[in-house]
Amino acid sequence: MIQKLKYMNDIVDDSATKYNYIVNLASEVAKNYGFKYINTPIIEMTSLFKRSVGESSDIVNKEMYNFTDKGDRDICMRPEGTAGVVRHFVESKKDRQQPSKFKYFYFGKMYRYERGQKGRYREFNQFGCESFGEPSVLEDFMIIEMISTIFDKLNIKYALEINSIGCDSCMPVYKDNLVKFLEPKKDALCQDCQRRLLQNPMRVLDCKNSSCQEQIANAPKITNNLCESCDSDFKQLVELLDNSGIEYNINTNLVRGLDYYNKTAFEFVSKEIGSQGAIAGGGRYDKLVEFLDGKSTPAVGFAMGIERLMMLIDIPKESRDGYYLGALDANALSKILEASKKIRINSKAYVEYGAKNLKGHLKNADRFNAKYCAVIGEEELQNGTIWVKNLEDKSQDVIDFNEFIKSIG
Ligand code: AMP
Repeated sequence: MIQKLKYMNDIVDDSATKYNYIVNLASEVAKNYGFKYINTPIIEMTSLFKRSVGESSDIVNKEMYNFTDKGDRDICMRPEGTAGVVRHFVESKKDRQQPSKFKYFYFGKMYRYERGQKGRYREFNQFGCESFGEPSVLEDFMIIEMISTIFDKLNIKYALEINSIGCDSCMPVYKDNLVKFLEPKKDALCQDCQRRLLQNPMRVLDCKNSSCQEQIANAPKITNNLCESCDSDFKQLVELLDNSGIEYNINTNLVRGLDYYNKTAFEFVSKEIGSQGAIAGGGRYDKLVEFLDGKSTPAVGFAMGIERLMMLIDIPKESRDGYYLGALDANALSKILEASKKIRINSKAYVEYGAKNLKGHLKNADRFNAKYCAVIGEEELQNGTIWVKNLEDKSQDVIDFNEFIKSIG
């Protein structure tokens, strides 16, 4: 028997219901905030991710699902959604339009060759939004508010962590200070962090290794080293959150795994799903459009992990819906098919092909969670009628077949 690949999942039955519920709900909220749907290819040139996610990131270093295609191109299954959306934004010259304000939401599969565990898969789904052209920190706040609305509607409890990682003018100065601080402690850092110290020192701050955590305990804090513009934006974000009643913690070690972020960084975490508790993360990436050869355009976005949300929600039991249609006598089958065709134009019908007794049909109708059980037997066939039971209020009636067909049309 051929099995599915390790750390990949079939989304089916209850998990399919949850997946659709989350995607539909999040899409509706995103539309209310002015985002429009975008669906970009799952595979892109590997160079797109090397340039955008960054050569020093774990994603590009260790986790890419890349291969050479028949045309000898280096192709990669997307590890995240932002790069493709930005590629589209630049390729379609939206960066050149005036005003260049565009908001997109997407959902779909992502691929990372990770060490799998509960909540961490090699194929997983994200829902995300990207907002282009808005430099105001109000947009960062709106996005955080939107995510909190989605989680409230899904009945998911979360802790929100925020930080500012500075900009071109203050981040390099801070990085130098951090490297100076960490350099003497280098030998106590894990191997990954020794590499990060050279390539991306701020990533040392969010290393989960306990020895690295000890070393950074007294490290300089980025929020004490922000330039005037970053500092005032961060203070405004804090004020907006305070006024809105969305609870948060400032976590100065929150730096995000990707190289193109600046200023606001945030993460939503759940305490209820074990060690892989991050359920959404995002922030500002004002440099990325330019990195990908576009005209400099401020941008902010986020992605949430759908599988992790699926672990956190209970779907309300669906109410009874549609018709169950069955024949008591094989001769009645053609009438059943006539009715089902008509019903299915506008609503749901379950059709039983085999003739059964009434008890069998009622049991089936219940199993399908149908609202009505409608059957035709010999007697109904002769009289041109159909027997219909409402399984919610238990009322039942024998109706003229043609009237029935008219009423459902
Ligand atoms: P990132 O793109 O790394 O910022 O991740 C955004 C969100 O995607 C995280 O907060 C997680 O909820 C989810 N996520 C990231 N990696 C995985 C994975 N390997 N398996 C399942 N969910 C993931």
